[in-house]
Formats: sequence, C-alpha cells, structure tokens
Amino acid sequence: MLHTYICNAQFLKSYFISNIVSILNNPIEYLKGVGPFKADILKKEAGIFIFNDLLQYFPFRHIDRTQITPISKINSDTDYVQVKGKITSVEVLGERYSKRLIATLYDGSGELELVWFQGINWVQKSLHIGAPFLVFGKAGFFMNTPQITHPEMELLTEENKNAKAFLEPVYSATEKLKARGMGGRQMGDLTATLLKMLSDKDIPENLPVEILNKFHLVKRFDAYKNIHFPASQTEYEKAVQRIKFEELFLSQLRMGLLRFKRHSFSKGLVFSTVGEHFNDFYNHHLPFELTGAQKRVLKEIRKDLGSGKQMNRLLQGDVGSGKTMVALMAMLIAADNGYQSCFMAPTEILARQHFESLKKMLNDLPVKIGILTGSSTAKEKRTILRECAEGEIDIITGTHALIEDAVLFKNLGLAIVDEQHRFGVAQRAKLWEKNELHPHILVMTATPIPRTLALTAYGDLDYSIMDEMPPGRIPITTVHRMEYARPQVMNFIKSEIKKGRQAYIIYPLIEESAKLDFENLMKGYEEVKAYFPEPKYYISMVHGKQKAAQKQTNMDRFLTGDTQIMVSTTVIEVGVNVPNASVMVIESAEKFGLPQLHQLRGRVGRGNQKSYCIVLTKVKLSNDAKQRLKIMCETNDGFKIAEKDLEIRGPGDIEGTRQSGLLNFKLANIVEDKRILETARLAAEKIIEEDATLIKEVNRCLRDFLVSQKGKTVWSKIS
Ligand code: ADP
Ligand code: MG
Repeated sequence: MLHTYICNAQFLKSYFISNIVSILNNPIEYLKGVGPFKADILKKEAGIFIFNDLLQYFPFRHIDRTQITPISKINSDTDYVQVKGKITSVEVLGERYSKRLIATLYDGSGELELVWFQGINWVQKSLHIGAPFLVFGKAGFFMNTPQITHPEMELLTEENKNAKAFLEPVYSATEKLKARGMGGRQMGDLTATLLKMLSDKDIPENLPVEILNKFHLVKRFDAYKNIHFPASQTEYEKAVQRIKFEELFLSQLRMGLLRFKRHSFSKGLVFSTVGEHFNDFYNHHLPFELTGAQKRVLKEIRKDLGSGKQMNRLLQGDVGSGKTMVALMAMLIAADNGYQSCFMAPTEILARQHFESLKKMLNDLPVKIGILTGSSTAKEKRTILRECAEGEIDIITGTHALIEDAVLFKNLGLAIVDEQHRFGVAQRAKLWEKNELHPHILVMTATPIPRTLALTAYGDLDYSIMDEMPPGRIPITTVHRMEYARPQVMNFIKSEIKKGRQAYIIYPLIEESAKLDFENLMKGYEEVKAYFPEPKYYISMVHGKQKAAQKQTNMDRFLTGDTQIMVSTTVIEVGVNVPNASVMVIESAEKFGLPQLHQLRGRVGRGNQKSYCIVLTKVKLSNDAKQRLKIMCETNDGFKIAEKDLEIRGPGDIEGTRQSGLLNFKLANIVEDKRILETARLAAEKIIEEDATLIKEVNRCLRDFLVSQKGKTVWSKIS
C-alpha cells in the first residue's frame, strides 16, 4: 500500500516535471494587452510568436530616468531628456490640419516648448498654468527654442516629485510596429506585464552553481529581468555579462559534446599500416624536406586514420604553406591500406594543376591517378567511372563533378576537399555518402579562420594548423599605388620580366554585371598590350567566359614561361602555382575583401626570388578600404589578416558562416567578447572531461536545459 503510494507520487512528480508546459511557450496573443490583431504584427515585424520570444527581445539601450536635465543644458546633441518645471503658457494655434497645442515649461534655467498635434482637447484639459510637471521626450529645436513633440507628461504630486529611479528600456521598432501602437515604449509595457507573471521557476537556472560562483554570474532569472528593467547601470551590465556567457558556454558545450560523441561512437575505416607506397615516396621521391608543420600535421592525420574513428579534420594553412604535399601523403597511406582517395578542388584549373603536380611527384610509383572534371569528354568519363568503380584508380582528382551520383567507388577511404570555403556544406556531405562506412574527411583551407571563429563555427571538427612556410621564402613586399602611377608600375613589371620573371595583373569580378566585368577586363587587356607589345612580350588571358580548354592553354603557356604576363579575373585566386611569377598587380584593389587580396598575393612569392604585390586603386577611398589596404601592406601573415578582417567586418559577414546559424548569438559577439568565449570554452571543456553524459547532480540543470531545447530554436518561428 505504502509502496504503491510512493511509486505513484514519484510517477506524478516526474510526470509533472516532464510535462510542465512553460508559460513562456504561450502564444503571444494570450498576453494581456496583445490580442490577435497586435499578435499578427508582432509575429510579422519582430518575429515574436510566443512569450519567450518577447522575453528575448532585448532593448538595445536604456534611457536614464534617474537624470533630470536643466532646460538650459539642452543642446543639439541632446537625445531623450527628462526635465522638471512649471507650465507658464498654453495656447492652440493654427486651423484644422495645422492645428497644434503649444505649452511652455519653465524650470528656472530656461524655457521649453511642448507641442501636440493630436489629442489636443484632451491634453489641454490637463495642463494648468503653474502646474508642476515631470516631462520626458526626445528633444529638438525649432527656431532656436528647445522643444519636445508629444512629450510624456506626469503631474508632480507629493509622492512622485522626485525623479523616477530606473533605467527605461528602449526597443527597436519598425514603422509598422509604431503605427499600430507597438512602438518601443509599448514593447516595454508588454515586457513588464510578462515579467510580472514570471517567477524563477519559469526561467530556471541552467548553469551549474560552481560556474555561477566561479565567474561571478548573476542568476538566470535575474539576468532576464534586469536586462529589460535594471535598477542601475551595473545591474544591467551584470545581466548582459551573464547572458553572453550563457550563450557562448552553451554553444561551446554543444559542440564539445558533438565532438566527444563522434570520438567515442563513430566507427571509421582503420588504416593500420604505413606501407610501401608511403615509405617509398618518403625515402626516394620527396622533392624537399618537409617543414616541421607538415610533419606535425601528418602525424595528427596518421593518428586519426589509425584510430578506428572516422576522421573529420579541418586543415588550415596559409597560402603556400604546402598543403598539397600533406594531402598526397595522406592519400598514399590510404593506398597502402587498399583504399581509394579523392581530392576535390573548386575550379577546373586547380583540379588540373593538382592532377599534374601529383602525377609528377608520384613519378614511377605504382599508384594510379585520374582526373574527372566537367569538361572531361564522354569517353574519358566512361573510362574513369569504370576504373573508379572497379577500384583500378587509387587517387582521383577533380572538381565537383566528383560528387555526381554517377561516380561510384569500389572502396573510397579518404576524401580531401581543397579550399573548402568554396564548397557548400551540402556539396561536401555528398562525398561522405560515397562509401558505406563514411570515408575519412580532410578539409583544407587557405583562408585562415581566426581562432574565435574556428571555435564557434567549426567547433565540432578537429583542426590542424600549418603555421610555417617552406624554408627559403623571401617575404613579399606589398605597396599601394594610385591609378595615375600605372605607367611606373608597368615599367616595374618590365624590369622584372627582364630578370626572367613573370607577372599577374588581376581585374575584379563584380558579380552584378558579368558584362561590365568582361568589358573592364578587355579594356585592361588592351592597355596592358599597349605597354607590352608582341613579339617582345606575350600575354595570357584567362576569364570565366572561356571554355575550359582555352583556359587551360592560356594557363599552360604562362606556366611554361611561354607568356610573361597573365591578365585575369579572380578565377586564378585559389591554388594556382607558378613559382617563377614575382609580381602581382591587383587592379581596383579597393573592391576586394582582405581574404581575397591575401589569396591573390599568395600567387607570388612561391619561388626563391623576391616578389612584389602592387595594389592599385582610385584616389578617393572609403575608410574601410584604406584600412584593408594598410593591413595588406603591413603584414603577410594570413592569420593576422583574418583577425583584422573579422574586426573590420564583424562576424556576421564572414564567408561560409552566414547560413550556418552557429554565429547567431543574441548578445555575444565573438570579436568583442573574445575573452568571455575563451573562459566559456575552458569551462565547457572541463565539464565534458569530467562528466560528458551530464549525469552528475551538479550538472543536472544543464542536461535538463539541453533536453528542453532540442529542436526548439526553429520551432517557435513557425506559426
Ligand atoms: P598551399 O598550401 O597554398 O596549397 P602548395 O601545396 O601549393 O601550397 O605549395 C606551395 C609551394 O611550396 C609548391 O611549389 C610546393 O611544391 C612547395 N613546397 C611545399 N612544401 C614544401 C617544403 N617542405 N619545402 C619546400 N617547398 C615546399
Ligand atoms: Mg593549395
């Protein structure tokens, strides 16, 4: 009897806990003061569907209602003000549509005009000469007199004669919201109504108490209350701090847990041996000593490949750091274990270049290599597809033609994606599916990602960094020149060609108008030709409109030194390797982003001679452009450039991360809140290390929270 009772009680308790429908999930129309009509606008204009969305609709600033400003201190910089004074005059001016009520307020220091265009009769009744008022509103000037249109008025009595003691939240509101009586102030009223209904059970703590104590964080409920209605600036800042930490910590924890899960549960192909091919190549065919960074990264990769878990690694290496060699040696390990590899590049030119250079390096090793691109002929395609499916080919290079359904492998063991930022996630994922047990994945990028971004956007991948250049490289000198200095720049190219070097001249691609781009390029080409006439000089030109074969011929002629100058659009941005080229001229450089400029510059400085990058721009430049070009001239370090780029552009804009949703923090900003991110990451890692299943009682709040959030984020947005 007693036993049954206990069971029931426990059952009931857990039943209630798991089925409590939080008040925060209520549809917004049920909030007092909203209703169906306003709810509709809130949904459309502010994305507020449920109570919780309103709670998360943070004010973008607060107005200090603790301050009273003397009227004489109001100037053109004044925004919202609160003044205290007596009404000295009230009059109605104008007729019909221009009718307005004007009152004067005097506070001993000066006079303020108060103006109403609406509700005149009603307002007029409440204003008596000599009556003391607390007045609040946005200050402006009319004929040198300060005025407030439609101010908030509060008659001062014995009880309220002092200034209001709080910071009033200001919310962003669209014109539509404002027009329907849902302006910034009303939003505050709704939030206040909502907060009155909530207790700390509705916003339960989700961080372990140890973390709260250690990092001096306020409780979750208090943070949500105070971010809207703080009693002081300090209280507000503490609320912000807490919410930022929570956002960053939870994202780090989620990603850390994903990584942990993958490490402990994912099954991978086991490449147990480093065999004949690898050793033969390493001992007899390696054209140069590997850099320390190359060796280190290879070790990391080998460890992954032999671990029995599927490798999922991001390799970041600055332009020219020698990633191709690492890729080749990883593919040799795959071949040693009887597996095929594929090596996917974003452009035809690059795929072909990889093919040629790998073939050359493999020389007479018994490793068969093939290539498949969009421009392979039907016959070539048939052969390649058959060889792939039957396992005759060991290594296949190519473009995204490789991910087409027709491409089947006998046993794909390793998929390498070069310059990954050019591929979408979905495109990459198609590669993974080409083997029953997913192949090992190595994603390579030469667009360095700042550490903070890597942590947040790619935190679920393991990553390796190649931060060392092959020896003997002489740093590239970068200079900024105005367009009018073009003749000098051309003369400089001549002097370099005289020394036997080659030069690139790059024109921007402005996506809106392919036609204009083309015209620009042709104009540039003619101009360059005038400076460098045949037969003394020969010029290659490559652009997006050419057929693959034509591009290839032009590329090849430059590669073999047949032409001294390459005029091109950014199609050659990634990967192209012509070590003899020593000058990179970038036309209209102000139109390029930092990572792209750095990529382009990386086409020179690949050999053992001194190289130059010249960024040409028009004279008048935006501040951002000036800053970018200055950074280019100051440093060759891709990681530094990536950090600066993130600072200038902000995280929302970085290529490839926009759609990921991973950076959609409400408050946190990975540039400004770097330090919080770092602390949060360490705290998350510690928890994963000690209690990855979150089974400990202290971590229960975390587990409950993560469970409650599963699949939820998108849900509230679907009406
Ligand atoms: P990226 O990392 O930009 O893809 P690449 O793989 O194209 O760089 O290598 C750039 C150049 O450096 C190539 O010419 C390559 O042969 C050369 N290289 C790579 N590793 C070394 C090394 N350890 N020592 C000397 N040269 C190297
Ligand atoms: Mg490369």
